[in-house]
Amino acid sequence: MPSIAGGGRLFAAHRGGIWWLRRRQHQPFSSLAGGGGRGGAPHLPVLIVGAGPVGLVLSFLLTKFGIKCAVIEKNVEFTRHPRAHFINNRTMEIFRKLDGLAGEIERSQPPVDLWRKFVYCTSLSGSVLGSVDHMKQEDFDKVISPISVAHFSQYKLVDLLLKKLEGIGFQTCFPGEIGNTTQDLGIESKILMGHECTFLQQTDEGILVGTSVNNGGRMVERKRKLHCGLLVGTDGARSTVRELAGIAMEGERDLQKLVSVHFLSRDLGRYLSTQRPGMLFFVFNPDAIGVLVAHDLEHGEFVLQIPFYPPQQMFEEFSAKVCEQIIVKLVGWEPADIQVLDIKPWAMHAEVAEKYVGCNNRVVLAGDAAHRFPPAGGFGMNTGVQDAHNLAWKLGLMLNGVASPSIMQTYESERRPVAIFNTELSVENFKAAMSIPATLGLDPTLANSVHQVINKSLGSIIPRNVQKAVLEGLFSIGRAQLSDYILNEKNPLGSLRLARLRSILDEGKSLQLQFPAEDLGFCYEEGALVAEDCGEKPQKGAKLRHSKRASREYIPSANTGARLPHMQIRALPASSEGVFSTLDLVSGDKLEFVLIIAPLKESYEIARATLKVADEFKLSAKVCVMWPQGSASAEVEESRSELAPWTNYVDVEEVPMASGSSWWEMCRISRKSVILVRPDEHIAWRMESDMMRDTDSEVRRAFSQILCLN
Ligand SMILES: Cc1cc2nc3c(=O)[nH]c(=O)nc-3n(C[C@H](O)[C@H](O)[C@H](O)COP(=O)(O)OP(=O)(O)OC[C@H]3O[C@@H](n4cnc5c(N)ncnc54)[C@H](O)[C@@H]3O)c2cc1C
Repeated sequence: MPSIAGGGRLFAAHRGGIWWLRRRQHQPFSSLAGGGGRGGAPHLPVLIVGAGPVGLVLSFLLTKFGIKCAVIEKNVEFTRHPRAHFINNRTMEIFRKLDGLAGEIERSQPPVDLWRKFVYCTSLSGSVLGSVDHMKQEDFDKVISPISVAHFSQYKLVDLLLKKLEGIGFQTCFPGEIGNTTQDLGIESKILMGHECTFLQQTDEGILVGTSVNNGGRMVERKRKLHCGLLVGTDGARSTVRELAGIAMEGERDLQKLVSVHFLSRDLGRYLSTQRPGMLFFVFNPDAIGVLVAHDLEHGEFVLQIPFYPPQQMFEEFSAKVCEQIIVKLVGWEPADIQVLDIKPWAMHAEVAEKYVGCNNRVVLAGDAAHRFPPAGGFGMNTGVQDAHNLAWKLGLMLNGVASPSIMQTYESERRPVAIFNTELSVENFKAAMSIPATLGLDPTLANSVHQVINKSLGSIIPRNVQKAVLEGLFSIGRAQLSDYILNEKNPLGSLRLARLRSILDEGKSLQLQFPAEDLGFCYEEGALVAEDCGEKPQKGAKLRHSKRASREYIPSANTGARLPHMQIRALPASSEGVFSTLDLVSGDKLEFVLIIAPLKESYEIARATLKVADEFKLSAKVCVMWPQGSASAEVEESRSELAPWTNYVDVEEVPMASGSSWWEMCRISRKSVILVRPDEHIAWRMESDMMRDTDSEVRRAFSQILCLN
């Protein structure tokens, strides 16, 4: 059991806080950037708890940015039970910069024609009630993003991340490969498997972390504690770090309980590939109901999700044999080669941590440790990976002494609202998914209510087996609504229900796969940025509009806090580099700000000031001069003379879009606008170059604000 040192009050009033105020220059973090280890000093700057996708992405980014870190993982092996499989646009954009990870995913995932649809049917071989194709031509034409969404099992992603980490010097160590003495604690760039975080204590210089180590299946407390400057809890939905730091979750728990069955059947894979390929199959018949996720039709790999209702239905009842029988009922014939690999229960919640940062900015939560949503819409892992991306550059600049430790608070003020929004969206998606069975006369909310009534009012009066019989009786009456007798065009009720179902699917009111407005269009309103002083502020109402599902369309925006819009550009003078995305202006390998300007006198002045001030702040910065299509090499010579003696700039020209809009028109800003982009490709500052008075001091003020130095 995890323990909280000092009876849970440890983090509330520690002298670390006073000590913190005394040292305004934030050496405690910055001195750790290259690793500590002297005397009582921390062994390393950052310790990450949990080697799920979020912890691994974070360790990769930090290592790229020169921050030493290590990961501890309680399991001895990485789980093969696939959970996430849908990778959204923004996450793929991040993966593009993780040493080509996105390309490897694209090459390894199943062909898109095998997963672009959701299919609604009475059995996998029975009537198709409807289907929805979730890919559009724009997705392939890369109009709003340089990369498309992907369908790739989480455990395969973890395998690729481990390979990438190995490529930058990380090592996966198993218990026994690391000793128990001080000398053995050279743990930078290691993933320590079988190490469970069980204890936290704040020290003057960081966090002392207690671990238990898996010793042949038995967890044994490690005598020597690990000491880190900063601890990141990426330890999943039941986060120990969150619990030890005393951070509560807010929201709704236990929306639904499900059994997840991981199985293989090449026969079924072959059949579906040729007859009705799809990613999700919603199957409704009188004998069984379930959602089948086709992780990989080519290899016949599936996960079946079955709702269950404890305590009347217990998880233990779902043996491999029972699951196999349910699979056969859903398939409609008996595949000869069903191989059930693993069966796991899980509960659906809609919760966000009350705070993301605790213990004087020394404990941070990311991924499922900070938020857990229904998987409808595939936002869980995607939001977590984007947390890591937001956190990494801030940690990098803070640990290098460039940004103040209070920049950690901007991680919370930027990412927590996104999680709250995505929670609401996921709940809404979950309800949209439930609208289909409800239309077919099988209302899952009714099933949940009946279940609650049985639990609350009959639970203590009637024996468990009778409760179970009552519940199953009611469910089978409900499922009878799905019989061929009712659900056919000749039956007036059936034909009405089928018509309603078709209109839900046609109007896009069923569960969707892509959410471009939310995936790419989210905008930070408060954080490591300079609030808008020109143009319109990001509208708070926009959130409401999204949640009312009015529009899924992504509208490019150059508002402060938005992700830099994507447009194809070409380097000038013409080079062999070919066409690339505006997102590629931002380096994935170093912490660099990018200023985008038009070739105008006033904008060049801001560019010079930005390069100078960035130098003063010991920040890396680059200028991008955006020329209209067809600008001759002779013209771009102007940048050289305007920006001399600086050489860290690039001239690029726009590649015309189908719409014919220029970069400035697409962003809906004037050519006099100047945009400062952060290392995570979000816009930190936007200004009109002709509105600047004292350019140097305004740029200085902007950087101070972004780095939280005020
Ligand atoms: C059925 C289903 C389908 C889903 N589909 C999608 C999808 O399509 N797209 C999507 O984006 N998301 C999806 N999700 C959500 C996604 O799986 C999670 O959001 C994702 O796994 C979160 O990653 P993480 O790294 O934060 O946590 P996890 O993957 O849970 O990893 C946490 C790690 O921490 C370790 N750990 C825990 N406690 C300790 C400790 N005390 N000490 C050391 N290590 C510890 C765990 O062993 C684990 O390895 C789905 C989820 C489910 C259940």
